[in-house]
Amino acid sequence: MKDAAAKKRLAELAEIVGPAHVVTDPQVLEGHLVERRGLYHGRALAMVRPGATEEIARLLHYCNETRLAVVPQGGNTGLVGGQIPDQSGAEIILSLQRMNTVREVDPLSNVMVVEAGVTLAAAQEAAERADRLFPLSLASEGTCTIGGNLSTNAGGVGVVAYGNARDLALGLEVVLANGAVISGLSKLRKDNTGYDLKDLFIGAEGTLGVISAASLKLFPRPRAMATAFAGIPDPAAALKLLALARDFVGHGVSSFELLPRIGLDFVLRHAPGSRDPLSSPHPWYVLIELSAQQSGRLEDTLAELLAAAMEQGIVADAAIAATLDQRNAFWRLREDMSDAQRPEGGSIKHDVSVPVSATAAFIAEASAAVQNFMPDARVVAFGHLGDGNIHFNVSQPVDADKAAFLDRWREMNAVVHAVVKRYGGSISAEHGIGQLKRALLAETKDPAALDVMRLIKAALDPNGVLNPGKVL
Ligand code: ZN
Repeated sequence: MKDAAAKKRLAELAEIVGPAHVVTDPQVLEGHLVERRGLYHGRALAMVRPGATEEIARLLHYCNETRLAVVPQGGNTGLVGGQIPDQSGAEIILSLQRMNTVREVDPLSNVMVVEAGVTLAAAQEAAERADRLFPLSLASEGTCTIGGNLSTNAGGVGVVAYGNARDLALGLEVVLANGAVISGLSKLRKDNTGYDLKDLFIGAEGTLGVISAASLKLFPRPRAMATAFAGIPDPAAALKLLALARDFVGHGVSSFELLPRIGLDFVLRHAPGSRDPLSSPHPWYVLIELSAQQSGRLEDTLAELLAAAMEQGIVADAAIAATLDQRNAFWRLREDMSDAQRPEGGSIKHDVSVPVSATAAFIAEASAAVQNFMPDARVVAFGHLGDGNIHFNVSQPVDADKAAFLDRWREMNAVVHAVVKRYGGSISAEHGIGQLKRALLAETKDPAALDVMRLIKAALDPNGVLNPGKVL
């Protein structure tokens, strides 16, 4: 863009949000132009930070009229490049940072209304202050925001009991490309009045409208929790343990995470202060957490469950957290699993899901397919077994060339995704499409469904100003 034209635009943007909130300082911008894996690094005309829904409406109206492309951004923790502008330097980042008010908490209706820029941790805390639980929970919860969580339909470690972000939304306030506002902050549990528009915007990654606020479901706060780290022979045993756990406590299984020994080795090697909770190594592990409303001894129930599992040969050894510190230490082993792969060199990622019952077979077949494709590659398959969501990551062979390994990203994807397809799975379980999986979506999504998605995009964003080049 020519200097004079850019200057004019910046002045017009400043009229809408105030000059202090049109950020062009390269040092401030830099942190918003790159995502944490460093796969995408864009440029931007400016980052614009509206402070009210009304300002977002005027901003989008202006952008739509002048064909200025808008990249909405929350906490910038996304892993598929959906929140990063392109290389042109002609797009603006729409930061929701200043939209950070908890508008209402209604404990009797079990609903809270929060703005898009409220961090997930702040939303959890607001619920807790009202003696309620907002159960969405992920490793980046201190930074990621509700708007981003909904725009990407985030998952995390509580899905097995409470569902993903979509399941937790009752209503949305959304600003459309033309500046119109859908004021859909419903607190209703029942409302059958035609199309459910909120579900269009959840998971749309900012391509259909900008979520400015949401009404979210709250739950009773569990009075008791019990956590164990269990060594198991294989993922099939994990599935048996999950079924047994549900026999014991029904919906009380609030987390059920699978970890491989190699992933634990990476964490023990690279995460300071980490230690193996069990005295000898096991091929696989489950991190299981139970929750209950009664404040009784849930540890006893967990101990009985694990004893029954050992009797049946499902669990080889297990440790139950005796203190909150121990529980946190177990969880840190799981949460450090992604970062601990970085010092091991290149890692090719797959965020996939298959039917829960197929997870063990999927892991075995996909691992065999990878070994066949690249014999020394190191499969690190872990994640939310209770949801059928596996982070099927592949670390480079020891001492291999990182760049040469990463050059085979697409080939490796094809090897793994072929197995995903055989099991009727998804190539994006919880991270979204963004830029990273755009081509993959076109290859794998049902063609009729893809056509409808394009029709919806054309109807809601005819000028293509909302997060262009993402998803579709
Ligand atoms: Zn995950």
